[in-house]
Amino acid sequence: MNKEKWTKSPWTISIGSALFSLLLTMGYDYSKEKPILTTVWSIIKWIRNLLWTIINFDLKVWWIIIAVALFILVIAIIDKFKKEETFKPDFYSYREGTFKRWKWTWTWKIRSSDNVWVISNLEAHCPNCDTPMIERSSIMYGLSFDCPRCEFQSKEGQCDEPHKIERIILDNIDRKRNEKKPSP
Ligand SMILES: [Zn+2]
Repeated sequence: MNKEKWTKSPWTISIGSALFSLLLTMGYDYSKEKPILTTVWSIIKWIRNLLWTIINFDLKVWWIIIAVALFILVIAIIDKFKKEETFKPDFYSYREGTFKRWKWTWTWKIRSSDNVWVISNLEAHCPNCDTPMIERSSIMYGLSFDCPRCEFQSKEGQCDEPHKIERIILDNIDRKRNEKKPSP
């Protein structure tokens, strides 16, 4: 829209003139020192004029198209977030359990190579103070766990093995799922 068109549009003219008359009345009231009523009246008139202008405004088709497109976009975005929320499986909240000797915690993530939920950040907690322990494994000494807080140590043969814990977690989920299935 160029400048000339803009100043000539009925929108600009009527808002402009309404504003102008409002200012004029306010100025008049101020000079005569009996404001309020006339000012309030002219504000009401100004709002009425404004509404009238909006109602009579000739709509461009491309405005409607843009409005509809924006609306669809917003709906699509909301829908996407909703899907991501509902996509989380039942077992997503299953993140801790006590197996064999210790308490274990873990999180779930989707393995991007095949889109499968897998256990990640599997940690054994110290039986004395509940701090996540440091896991070490070496060919010479085998598997060991140390507590960084209370110096609890567990050597090969006294440790829960992470790969077995993982298996148990997955099996627990399978068992729960089978419980839910109606018997044939
Ligand atoms: Zn400890």
